[in-house]
Amino acid sequence: MSNLDRAPSLTSLREQASPQPAHQLFTGREVLVGSETRVRRLLPNLGRRLVGAWCFVDHYGPDDIANRPGMQVPPHPHMGLQTVSWLLDGEVHHRDSLGSDALIRPGELGLMTAGHAITHAEYSPVPHPELLHGVQLWVALPAGVRDGAASWEHHTGLPVIEEAGMQVTVMLGSLAGAVSPGTTHTPLVGASVLLDQGALAMLPLEPEFEHAVLVISGAVEVDGELLDVGSMLYLGCGRSELMLRADSASRLMLLGGEPFDEEIVMWWNFVGRSAEEIAAAREEWAAGDRFGVVQDAGAPLAAPPLPPGTLKPGGAIR
Ligand code: MN
Repeated sequence: MSNLDRAPSLTSLREQASPQPAHQLFTGREVLVGSETRVRRLLPNLGRRLVGAWCFVDHYGPDDIANRPGMQVPPHPHMGLQTVSWLLDGEVHHRDSLGSDALIRPGELGLMTAGHAITHAEYSPVPHPELLHGVQLWVALPAGVRDGAASWEHHTGLPVIEEAGMQVTVMLGSLAGAVSPGTTHTPLVGASVLLDQGALAMLPLEPEFEHAVLVISGAVEVDGELLDVGSMLYLGCGRSELMLRADSASRLMLLGGEPFDEEIVMWWNFVGRSAEEIAAAREEWAAGDRFGVVQDAGAPLAAPPLPPGTLKPGGAIR
């Protein structure tokens, strides 16, 4: 998906991971994405902008789109990141400038590695299921990969860990020895956790990783803290397991990874390392260069204006 904020901030950040277990609770802010889809944005957040290499987290729905167009995101560019598409309900039609054309369904991983440049478009198919519910996540790419070739992967068979009262699908990266087939470039984990009514379960974690969890449906007590939909709990590093309890059937998402040790600059749909690099990408997109074309997918999105002023490391300017 695209960041459709018409005045996105230009942010330079190098995040400090908590080396110890922590509890930092964040509330998502509502943002309109595309012409139709309202999301809860959990990352970046005023208090935290990276969890491992995860740099962007939008949770949308469940929305009743029976009589609506659903997701409507025209062609737009990306660089320096991977996009992760994950659905709980509904379908999304992905097309990109490599010629990829895929229908993503619940439980499947849509993984696009932008590298130096790619363009994609995402629409609800016609006709489409009544409900649309999912998350859109970005992973920052490290030096040496971020300028590389773009690629698209669609994985329909992901490893599942079954425990009493809990089912864990390893979407990306690895968890407790189960490894997703999706290509990663830094050590990380993204997992979808389904808890049965009345579940009390221990989720195994990698102590070297920092982690955060967000509730996708229901309500979950995480390490003693009750989380509802729309909030994210940052947990820091140094945990080998996490206690989860749910009174009703609930879903949450676990995100984690080795703390990302490069300072990144994020603006609109780009992740770079300097304001100059971002400005150059914006110019190339405006000129129709570099990012390629998605055939028959509608008029491309225009980039918003860059904010005035100079980029201040560690801060955001509007
Ligand atoms: Mn996108």
